[in-house]
Amino acid sequence: MSALLEVRNLSKHFRVSGGRFGRDKRVVRAVDDVSFTIEQGHTLGLVGESGCGKSTLGRAILRLHEPTAGQVLLDGEDITAMDAQTLHASRAKMQMMFQDPFASLSPRRTIGQTLLEPLELHPFGSKAAHERRIAELLEVVGLRTSVLDRYPHEFSGGQRQRIGIARALVLKPRLIVADEPVSALDVSVQSQVLNLIKDLQAQFGIAFLFISHDLAVVQHVSDEVGVMYLGKLVEKAPADRLYGAPAHPYTRALLSAVPVPDPAASARRTVLEGDVPSPLSLPSGCAFHTRCPEAMQTCSSVVPTVATLPDASNHHVRCHLHSGGE
Ligand code: SF4
Repeated sequence: MSALLEVRNLSKHFRVSGGRFGRDKRVVRAVDDVSFTIEQGHTLGLVGESGCGKSTLGRAILRLHEPTAGQVLLDGEDITAMDAQTLHASRAKMQMMFQDPFASLSPRRTIGQTLLEPLELHPFGSKAAHERRIAELLEVVGLRTSVLDRYPHEFSGGQRQRIGIARALVLKPRLIVADEPVSALDVSVQSQVLNLIKDLQAQFGIAFLFISHDLAVVQHVSDEVGVMYLGKLVEKAPADRLYGAPAHPYTRALLSAVPVPDPAASARRTVLEGDVPSPLSLPSGCAFHTRCPEAMQTCSSVVPTVATLPDASNHHVRCHLHSGGE
């Protein structure tokens, strides 16, 4: 199967000013040389600690942040090379789902107005076709048509996320970037929304980039999982394989920190020492070497390249343990 989304060596760097009078110019490498693909109807989960660049990556793919370097191809079309008009037309194919739908829904617009807006901004048939599409969407996300005249503050968090999902689906997208879509919800509501997302994917064949700090949530929805650390993708594998046989020391540490009701497992836990380094002054070599329990001499001076594990052509790791320090 050919990839719906292909991300090639994507980087997003920000220039920041510091020091006295702002004369100290520095570069934050929020996303650095990231490559992956997502097939139609598949979900790539993206995990990592806060500040690792996963949200910036999601936004750079949709060009909500202009990429510094690299390419993003959707259905073979280069998103990064599009002029504003072509990009606007292509936005129908790729949508974003946010953590806090309340913040992304205008408090002064009714739900009907919010759902209608994208249909009016893109060519989508007659007024009757708009009304049919909105009625269809409400049924798909499990809401009644009576919500159309109401305002966002009148709904619970779970209902607002259903409205956010309906809005993301309005234009029949091929790809949705979902940025922490259930983090703000109660656990009981989280599973309802996650199951809804899985159903929609099966029903409409939409591909998802699903961003979350929660490894259990990502495992529930993902076909493949990528792990980010300080702007780089350090491991990517099918979900079963990544959770069953993690190869990167950072992934192993993240997984060992997930709470399990087993005292023996707690004793085997890998506790990461120290804080995440500042993205303003990244450690040399492997950026994880300051916290890695398996760091070797070469790790502090040589940047590891991406290696494919010999027993799995779809398991990729950026670590000297697997590349022989090349
Ligand atoms: Fe640890 Fe070295 Fe691998 Fe980095 S390259 S994760 S420091 S072993």
